[in-house]
Amino acid sequence: MHKRFLFFVLLLTGPATFAQKNNTTAPAKPKLVVGLVIDQMRWDYLYRYQARYGTGGFKRLIGQGFSYENTFIPYVPTYTAVGHTTVYTGGVPATHGIVGNNWYEKSLRKNMYCTEDSSVEAVGIAPNERAGKMSPRNCWATTVCDELRLSNNFQSKVIGVALKDRGGILPAGQSANAAYWFDEKTGKWITSTFYMKQLPGWVNDYNSRDRAGELMKTDWNTLYPISSYTLSTADEKEYESTIPGEKTTTFPHKVSAITNNKYLAVKYTPYGTTLSFEFAKEAIVNEKLGTGSVTDFLALSISSTDYIGHEFGPNSIEAEDTYLRLDRDIADFLTYLDNKVGKGNYMMFLTADHGAAHIPGFLKEHNIPAGTFSDEGFRTELNKAISDSFGFNNAIMNLQNYQLYLNTDSMETRSVDVKAVKKFVMKKLRAKPFITSVFETADGNTTVLPEPIRTMVINGYNASRSGDIQFLVRPGYFDGYNKGTTHGLWNPYDSHIPLLFYGWGVKHGKSNRAVYMTDIAPTVAAKLQIQMPNASVGKVLEEVVNN
Ligand code: ZN
Ligand code: ZN
Repeated sequence: MHKRFLFFVLLLTGPATFAQKNNTTAPAKPKLVVGLVIDQMRWDYLYRYQARYGTGGFKRLIGQGFSYENTFIPYVPTYTAVGHTTVYTGGVPATHGIVGNNWYEKSLRKNMYCTEDSSVEAVGIAPNERAGKMSPRNCWATTVCDELRLSNNFQSKVIGVALKDRGGILPAGQSANAAYWFDEKTGKWITSTFYMKQLPGWVNDYNSRDRAGELMKTDWNTLYPISSYTLSTADEKEYESTIPGEKTTTFPHKVSAITNNKYLAVKYTPYGTTLSFEFAKEAIVNEKLGTGSVTDFLALSISSTDYIGHEFGPNSIEAEDTYLRLDRDIADFLTYLDNKVGKGNYMMFLTADHGAAHIPGFLKEHNIPAGTFSDEGFRTELNKAISDSFGFNNAIMNLQNYQLYLNTDSMETRSVDVKAVKKFVMKKLRAKPFITSVFETADGNTTVLPEPIRTMVINGYNASRSGDIQFLVRPGYFDGYNKGTTHGLWNPYDSHIPLLFYGWGVKHGKSNRAVYMTDIAPTVAAKLQIQMPNASVGKVLEEVVNN
């Protein structure tokens, strides 16, 4: 080697070596991050049932972790797929592309389910089963799990787990090692060829034990004497719905007698929660999560809270009992993580994808305004009116997410005045007493709407996937039936969610300032010193990072 060149090499490598030697403490990272999304958990459940929570579950997270008491969803509609995607991408429907659980994909002229993917096959059940033909490809963005893998050349392991396909797939992201979800026909945890060709041995072993069937042998009774559930309405109410396969709404829920669709029914019981934590533990131990030299990520979502919430509502004994049991399951899971990964070696965040409204029938009993209407009824009524006035049939192709999708292409081809049809439809909608606002979806910015609704509408708008006309309704109203409840709107009962950080590098504290669901992913990214996801519009929550 030429002497002068050697000198330059030494000059260039010297300082780097010097820096390495002096950098005795490389940035410490957690061994495992656990994202825990509780489907349909309203913020107030942290406190509503607190008197009977134990010390090791929610109270441990609140007492030792950091709680953001005023965390809001910054978009509409507040549905599961959107929530999970936003938590993990820090983006909004405008930037990550997931505008609902379902939407009308204009470019393909077809209805789309958030995680459907006809190019992949089911793994763990028959390859052509729809339940398994799923992937995250409809999402346009990276999740914080993808960014973790990108940060170290894909050395980190990422696994998504949820009974619901969308609850595991969308968080784990595009480059995940695996996502597993529950097949309600067979009771098996399954995946798709997007991730792998066949299930790992440990998943087959777990499936062969039929834990879902095992759990369902015990009827669901309340943890405590039913008379002590004073925070809830009476057990039998005509506005409650039932667990599929059951005829009554009362305890004890005789789930052991359900023979048809037993695996569908399990999702509607706290056993679905237990099953999810149990499978997550199997994933941790068998995939050796949190044992390597880099950070691994488990994206776990609890879906049963949502199924139960839809049927029985927030003021039911079923909801109360579900959260008391969830608290125990969380305590057990934290103890498991302490033992397997080590106290202080893992970081957890707990949040929700949305909340839920009280059941209108219950609110009306107490003179609180509420009500339901039917999207499908609206569509039929409006299509008939358009047909009568414009001679054009089926003008509204779809009505979902409080948006109307108009068949504008065909109207233009047939020289129907699209503008006039829109005006006509909007006038008809405004005539409904419980509709408070109607506007073209693209006009969110110029429509007179109070904050934060205006921002939520704009964030939720996606030109290629949103409908043409959107409407807002009075508080307490939603698209639904005379039984059960739902979510999907801007109102605090749907958009105010819990947000707790706990464990590795998180100091204890509480903040009441308004923060957003979009802040979670950039905060986790900052904490891990990795790039924030590529569609993120959120801000880093400094209390959790600066300590
Ligand atoms: Zn949900
Ligand atoms: Zn739901």
